[in-house]
Amino acid sequence: MKCSVRYAIVSVAVSAACVLGGAVAGYLGVFDPVLTPVTQWFQQTVQSHNNDIENSTAELEPPHESVSPFYVAATLDLTTVPEYSGSPVVEINGNQPEFLPEQLESTEAFELYSPLDHLGRAGVAFACLGPETMPNQSRGDISMIEPSGWNSDTYVFIDGGFVFNRCHLVAHALSAENANAMNLVTGTRYLNKQGMLPYEQQVISYIESTGNHVLYRSSPIFVGDELLCRGIQMEAISLEDNGAGVCFNIFCYNVQPTITIDYATGATSYEGASNSEEVAQLYVLNTNSMKYHLPDCKTVKDISPRNRQDITATPSDIRAWGYKPCGVCKP
Ligand SMILES: [Zn+2]
Repeated sequence: MKCSVRYAIVSVAVSAACVLGGAVAGYLGVFDPVLTPVTQWFQQTVQSHNNDIENSTAELEPPHESVSPFYVAATLDLTTVPEYSGSPVVEINGNQPEFLPEQLESTEAFELYSPLDHLGRAGVAFACLGPETMPNQSRGDISMIEPSGWNSDTYVFIDGGFVFNRCHLVAHALSAENANAMNLVTGTRYLNKQGMLPYEQQVISYIESTGNHVLYRSSPIFVGDELLCRGIQMEAISLEDNGAGVCFNIFCYNVQPTITIDYATGATSYEGASNSEEVAQLYVLNTNSMKYHLPDCKTVKDISPRNRQDITATPSDIRAWGYKPCGVCKP
């Protein structure tokens, strides 16, 4: 049955959230063994949501949307995560997600999003995803949302132009969430496409092919009062088969190769010539074929203006952007 009710536990006051601070750590449960209050809260939340569904005859979209009554910050200790060194993703905890045993007991779908914090930053998104949480409509407009650290800097060498995307903590294809500010963070194109997307696609394919459920937690990791997260921790486990289909715990770096990012504000810059041994010179990029050429290459005239970008840069930077040298002019 495709029934659902939009509902939210309207927020407990901030002071109450502070009182519950210890319990929040319990809810995340990674380090703090004291979980009872929030575990109860969590179970009540899901139960209350289910009662709403049972009592409703309305057909509303999207399903299973709810709001945590307080901000849930991530607990991953960034000092335990290696510096970015060329791979968009690193495994955490041996790739084993850190859910609590009682969180694995039910396959009832739910979605919980943390209210934005005092700096307007998104917190942990936690969900049990299944066929019933997936959209039956194409994605809507989200351009009115400006997550913390947002800017619209563009660089000609980035696929799509914009260095930042509005990254869904829980992908629209899994959650049917569109312009939900609690589910969006400012993330680089690289984070979105090279980091998160392959894992999101894995979960989507698994649910589509099995009809099973996946417990899923997406945690933006901020340092201090920085507005831009350093990355997103993604944890997932398939429930009906105890992780045989999906099981991961990863950190996706919020970086863009060759771009310098100020995480306090979200400001970005490209200084160029990352390798001082090389000299920056003019090249022609084909943003469609992802090849780069010398300006006098005879094939350059065939590049559609839409796909052509002329840029002064070093070959190593250009390769870091994902471009390959043309086989004709061999730049
Ligand atoms: Zn060429």
